[in-house]
Amino acid sequence: MALAAAVLTGCAGDSTDTTQPSEVPAPPAQEVDRERDTLCQISLLQGLLSGDFQGSISIGELKTYGDMGIGTFDGVDGELIMLDGVVYQAKGDGTVAQPDDSLTIPFANVTFFEPDEQVTYTDVESFEALTELLDGEVERLGENRFYMVRIDGTFTEMHARSEYAQEEPYRTLVEALAEDQTYFDYEDVEGTVVALYCPVYMSELNNAGWHLHFISADRTRGGHVLDLASDELTVTIDCTDSFEMLLPDSEYFVNADFSLDRSEDVRRAETNE
Ligand SMILES: [Zn+2]
Repeated sequence: MALAAAVLTGCAGDSTDTTQPSEVPAPPAQEVDRERDTLCQISLLQGLLSGDFQGSISIGELKTYGDMGIGTFDGVDGELIMLDGVVYQAKGDGTVAQPDDSLTIPFANVTFFEPDEQVTYTDVESFEALTELLDGEVERLGENRFYMVRIDGTFTEMHARSEYAQEEPYRTLVEALAEDQTYFDYEDVEGTVVALYCPVYMSELNNAGWHLHFISADRTRGGHVLDLASDELTVTIDCTDSFEMLLPDSEYFVNADFSLDRSEDVRRAETNE
């Protein structure tokens, strides 16, 4: 397996904008960092797992917090992939839509993607092989930050899933997936994987580790990635050292019981095992 690393700007948070004209007062540095280098999370995965599928933020507002990310839609109506500021909805029937900005989101993670490093992976044989390589980058760059990673290439194999929209009263996510999950196998499909890494201390709020969503280059296929293979992948890494979480103000959310241990549900929902 060959690796080629090319450092772009490094991960040290060097966000100084030297192109700013001197006569224009620059916004406070804190504000710039908050906008550009923050991972924003809508609700928590454990809320979604408990059956809180009600959207709490519109796609239009979500776009003000980032231009790249992953998530799902009101009623868990498919998998969300945000790439280059566009939101794609990979639906349970295998189609991909570009939903209206008014559609709402119950759970998502987005950031403004700013490449820090780029590497090339060759002969990636599986999801495990890819996440092992990505774990190596995280070990090198620091395990306790967030990483949004863009992975471009042709996938000789892509095994993805989505799910059909749920009706109220909502079941838990694991119950919903058991009945309404759909699978897609693609071969030799060009596209992009949007991968999010959350540190281990996030295990009560999200899935600690990697979470991958796929969108094809022609934007007609996509979903939550369960397995993949590729001869060559270009991997672009954005180190993110700030975290913001927006809580729904719904009655369901404010009264939900988050004392339950949902770690087994997280594993089942993410890996489908
Ligand atoms: Zn997913």
